[in-house]
Amino acid sequence: MTRDEARALDAADPIAAVRDRFALPEGVIYLDGNSLGALPAATVAAAGDLVARQWGERLIRSWNEGWIDAPQRIGAKIAPLIGAAADEVIACDSTSANIFKLLVAALRVDPKRRTVLSEAGNFPTDLHIAEGAVACVPGARLEVVPRDKLLEALGPDTAVLLLTHVHYKTAERFDMPAVSRAAREAGALMMWDLSHSAGAVAIDLDDAGADLAVGCGYKYLNGGPGAPAFLYVARALQDRLASPLSGWMGHAEPFAFADAYAPAPGMKRWLTGTPPMLAMAALEAGLDVWSTVDRPAVWRKSAALWSILAEAGGQAGLDCVTPADPAGRGSHISFRHPEAHAIVQALIDRGVIGDFRDPDMVRLGLTPLYLSHEDVWRAGEALKAVIADRSYRQPQFAVRQAVT
Ligand SMILES: *Cc1c(COP(=O)(O)O)cnc(C)c1O
Repeated sequence: MTRDEARALDAADPIAAVRDRFALPEGVIYLDGNSLGALPAATVAAAGDLVARQWGERLIRSWNEGWIDAPQRIGAKIAPLIGAAADEVIACDSTSANIFKLLVAALRVDPKRRTVLSEAGNFPTDLHIAEGAVACVPGARLEVVPRDKLLEALGPDTAVLLLTHVHYKTAERFDMPAVSRAAREAGALMMWDLSHSAGAVAIDLDDAGADLAVGCGYKYLNGGPGAPAFLYVARALQDRLASPLSGWMGHAEPFAFADAYAPAPGMKRWLTGTPPMLAMAALEAGLDVWSTVDRPAVWRKSAALWSILAEAGGQAGLDCVTPADPAGRGSHISFRHPEAHAIVQALIDRGVIGDFRDPDMVRLGLTPLYLSHEDVWRAGEALKAVIADRSYRQPQFAVRQAVT
């Protein structure tokens, strides 16, 4: 690919103008939007309005002027991105907390099924929370097996199969319909963590017959650092599951101030405490960008951007660990290299922000809403230059820093 070819793709890109809706810093090519999404320009005003007017002037009246319904309203805006109905999604808590709530609830559905099954090398919080969740349910246990052994490990004791749809390191993507079907045939519930796939790839939870899902608000949804997460429960299951964090906001009548807990109907029962409105406002502004975007054009552009970096990485002689088949991957690309950390630092020095994943992964996120083909072409050129001139060998890049 040449610069002119990249520019021609930009000229023909139906979503090229969406980039103008983001406030991006000068001189930076941002390939880390899969870890912390970029700032939508409208978020600045939305957060300002929330603070100055809604909080400052309207004060407590704002709870009746759009605050109390924010978790459901925002959930409904997430729903089309994950193939769910508006009343199957709610925005609340963190992804970690939502995994806990759903796992414990899933373990309580059928007392004969005691195992949470997950993948070795899954995102750490998923496994850590699963460990904590099984410790809260008598007789429950966590079984962690390699990716290629998951389906054969499903059995009569499996309560729930917890998987991350797109792997945070390699970007490998599970076949959601096939895996969900296998879980259902084994009598288990299927729970997807969509943190690296919501806003990155096409998802159809309802069509796949998935039961439960969670995901992150601050990655491809651009909801801001530590944005509220989301939680999905298929409609057919909604009355059968209840949150173990039975807080008052999930009560059927929170303002009846009853002593005894009674879960609200529908998704509201998954709320725990009072919604964090500053964070909710930023998440909603991030989702409003998505509302006007042609989603299939985003998925197509992701594949095109990926090919540009795959070609550059190949020319640099790098070992790509992400599957070449677009249906088998998410929207980032990872290369394995023993000097991965120093390479990422050398790239940052050239204005290309990607990230390093321990122990040997260069991970580059491709966010079609605000990256042009030319940006990604330039990032590829920087990658080739860093490898060719061995600038990552310079002592300043060899120092291992704490990278989150
Ligand atoms: C980013 C990510 C999370 C984040 O969880 P938090 O509770 O927001 O810290 C969880 N799971 C996966 C797979 C992720 O990629």
